[in-house]
Amino acid sequence: MDMNKILKNLKIRGFIPAYFESGAEAADYVCSLIPDGESVGSGGSMTIASLHILERLVQSGHKVYAHSAVPESERGDVYQKAGKADWYLTSANAMTEGGELVNIDGAANRVSALCFGVKKIVYIIGINKIAPTLGAALDRASNIAAPLNAKRLNKKTPCAVTGKCSHCNSPDCICNVTAITHHPTKYQTEVHVVIAGENLGY
Ligand code: SF4
Repeated sequence: MDMNKILKNLKIRGFIPAYFESGAEAADYVCSLIPDGESVGSGGSMTIASLHILERLVQSGHKVYAHSAVPESERGDVYQKAGKADWYLTSANAMTEGGELVNIDGAANRVSALCFGVKKIVYIIGINKIAPTLGAALDRASNIAAPLNAKRLNKKTPCAVTGKCSHCNSPDCICNVTAITHHPTKYQTEVHVVIAGENLGY
């Protein structure tokens, strides 16, 4: 994997790329990007949870909207506020070496915030999420990320049992929308893609 080429591809697409050897260094950089007083939204990223980024931002005085931190009954309100925050932090289910970002969503709170409404976005990507082609990235999102997330969330889907996607129509399906981000969208002002040279999340 040629990281310099990947970073160059991201830059050509209009993203602001950065690479760090470790997740800890990437987390320090992400926290340094958010100015005092600005709010942050986030989804249920295992990458971000493992790096304790949201806890650090709360400690440094930022208002953080993350549904994973509140009971189910309050989540709708948090989804709305997260989608209107100054920043949105996320990982991706997969990224291509060419610099496209793939996300599959159930409630679409995350993909909607990433596509429209939040002007400053930070993707934090472990090296395990990078796939050579768009086909391989979509396959990773469907057959690695989604089944593991379905299992973690105790969803009644075939993949939670088999570990592979069978393109279900289950009421519990977590794959209701697939977003492929080729470039920052029209009203976004900063879209950072921060890559760590270690495996993070799934
Ligand atoms: S089986 Fe259903 S929930 Fe599981 S990955 Fe496939 S579409 Fe998503």
